[in-house]
Amino acid sequence: MTTEARHPEDGDPVNPFPVDWLGDDEMAPELRRLHRLKAQAEAREAAVIARAHRRGVPQAQGFASPTAWLIATTGEPPAVCRSRVRVALALQHMDHTRQAFAAGDLSECRVRLLVDARADAPDLFRRDEPLLVEQARTLPARMLPKALSHWRRLADPDGARYDAEAAFLARRLHISPTWEGTVRVDGDLDPESGTVVMTAIGSLAEPWALEPGDTRTPAQRRADALVEICRRHLDSADRPTRNGERPHITLTLSPPDLTGDGLIDLDTGPITADTARRLACDACITPITIDAADQPQTAGNARRTTPPALRRALDLRDGGCTHPGCDIPARWCDAHHIVHWAHGGNTELPNLKLLCRRHHRTAHHHQPYPKRE
Ligand SMILES: [Zn+2]
Ligand SMILES: [Zn+2]
Repeated sequence: MTTEARHPEDGDPVNPFPVDWLGDDEMAPELRRLHRLKAQAEAREAAVIARAHRRGVPQAQGFASPTAWLIATTGEPPAVCRSRVRVALALQHMDHTRQAFAAGDLSECRVRLLVDARADAPDLFRRDEPLLVEQARTLPARMLPKALSHWRRLADPDGARYDAEAAFLARRLHISPTWEGTVRVDGDLDPESGTVVMTAIGSLAEPWALEPGDTRTPAQRRADALVEICRRHLDSADRPTRNGERPHITLTLSPPDLTGDGLIDLDTGPITADTARRLACDACITPITIDAADQPQTAGNARRTTPPALRRALDLRDGGCTHPGCDIPARWCDAHHIVHWAHGGNTELPNLKLLCRRHHRTAHHHQPYPKRE
């Protein structure tokens, strides 16, 4: 009996020899080879699914649909199987795509984009398929969707108009508290609205808008930018009133909330006492007492923690955020109490300084947060 290494031609094409035998220069070619091999396997899988469907194999074996049969056969999630069946059935009518897929020239994700393009305009796709397959084979993956939608616009202007209308009708935004104590923001926008939002967020989050040494990740910067835009809106004078008041964040806090270091529950999840102190640092305060029946009673007039005249003097003195190197203008800054009023600090110029939202946050959160797993 021999134990000689096998060659790809006469043995297992996926594992022709141990990976350890690969030289450094052979790694990239091996990955390219496997990438093509994977596409070939996926193309064969699609061909089997299509053939089984034509012969009625799923129904003969008691399944309601090819998707149900594929789920039972492979154990893959329903969404994955549904997409595979859709691709497999569409490929029966896409000769050039199917051949390029089978040759390993197109990956499955590129094939899926071509299937989508065909679904939008089947007749035009048949006419232009050789050209589109050539583009799918050669263009970088991130440019292919753009190229395909460009083709669609040129080939079928009415259809493209219909798509634009559908994208606008499909706009949605969901904002909901999660079980983990965060708030999930998720939605879809038509291209024009999306551009407005991306431009606004980019104006605060893109590298040129940042100060040197900013260590936030791009995703964190986008999140901060969205919040900042909403805050500026709430602070601006020209927004609708509700019951005669401009809507703003309202927190009901007790003195122990403000001086302690426990957690305070909001509708959207808990906040720390540090956060409560920061929010109360520059706020509009309405004193409330609780009566004998545990009902809250308004006991005094609302007042700014920093009255308008004092704020104007502070704006004049500081001009903007006082954090070294930060140039956020005064109108977007908070009036920070150096010694917090809840800890007995007074509201006079020497105990106040302007800080932008980000540096105000840093000033109140001296302690690093405990690391979460
Ligand atoms: Zn403060
Ligand atoms: Zn700042």
